[in-house]
Amino acid sequence: MIDIKKNGWCPFYNKAFLAKDGYLLRITPNKSSLSYDKAVNLCELSLSMGNGLLDITNRGNIQIRGIKKPNIEKLSKELLKKEITIENDKVKIIISPFWVKNDDNIKFSNIFISQNSYIPISPDKFSIAIDLGASPVLRDVLSDIRLEKTDKGEKILYVDGSKLGRIINEENIVSYITELIKLYNHCISKYKHIKKMSCIVKYDLLPKKWMQIPILKSSRRKFPNLKKFGSSYTSKYGRIDAALFLDFLKTSKPTNIRFTPFKSFIFENNNNVEHSSFTSVDNNYELKVYSCPGSNSCSSSSINTHELADRLSYLRYNKIHISGCKKGCALSKPADLTLVGNNGLIDVIFNGKASDKPNISSLTDKQLLENL
Ligand code: SF4
Repeated sequence: MIDIKKNGWCPFYNKAFLAKDGYLLRITPNKSSLSYDKAVNLCELSLSMGNGLLDITNRGNIQIRGIKKPNIEKLSKELLKKEITIENDKVKIIISPFWVKNDDNIKFSNIFISQNSYIPISPDKFSIAIDLGASPVLRDVLSDIRLEKTDKGEKILYVDGSKLGRIINEENIVSYITELIKLYNHCISKYKHIKKMSCIVKYDLLPKKWMQIPILKSSRRKFPNLKKFGSSYTSKYGRIDAALFLDFLKTSKPTNIRFTPFKSFIFENNNNVEHSSFTSVDNNYELKVYSCPGSNSCSSSSINTHELADRLSYLRYNKIHISGCKKGCALSKPADLTLVGNNGLIDVIFNGKASDKPNISSLTDKQLLENL
């Protein structure tokens, strides 16, 4: 039986969400990766039971859009049967897309997947970022707790927002995560102002034992040599046309496809095949323009975000975020310029997030261009 809601929860393969363009399901591929056959299956399912549009989320998951109500149950079963998604996401895992076979990212991801049922229930969006490469790459990705390496190569677990954490190992990680989830559940039920795990740090509620060892200092995200993993491509605003993607898959035949939290994907072993609908990425994934799906897909948006993003991408800001509403689904971190839909008009925020107080409010399209 599928759960269906209009808003207020995190969709999954068995929890549908009603958006403006129909129902959507969200899948979490194991290790953010699909084999060639599974990726082909995903495209075919999107084309036969959805509207043929897929979105890569900023946690590297995939949304299947435009599903008609009678198809939801069947699609959900197919996604699980064909192993396109993991089955249990009580704790949502965001894994560094730069894992290599049997490395620490994989080891810890396997521990969480196998032990998921022993971990206490947490609020829907609670997540852990497994970021165990030499240098962290997921700090800009929204997560409650983070697993990284220290400068000495030890594994450190810390709460988002803290600069200090606790050394962990494969034996104690599940009990430590359990402890943190219990703390989180206790704080959100007791204090109204605690909404996210980082609030526990902000309001000084984190016990000292969780603040023992400094995390790695890292002012800028350093991506590893992307070529080591295959050929990387971005898809504008993370949106993928399943028919074009299927065509790309069939012409380039990658062995595996990894989906990243950077609105991009990696084709393993495809020797740099090009496709006019997807942009090759050479050495880094830093994006200039972020945009949520906007009014064509989401009822919370009163503006056409993609159209606005296309028109404004020439502006000389390093990072631009166009958001249909204050929720800021496309980017949880600050951008140099953030534009937010407000009853068909646009709010402007400089150096902030979509949820911040606007610097300029309720501009028309014409006024917006005069102010930028
Ligand atoms: S940020 Fe965009 S996609 Fe997210 S709820 Fe608002 S309008 Fe919808």
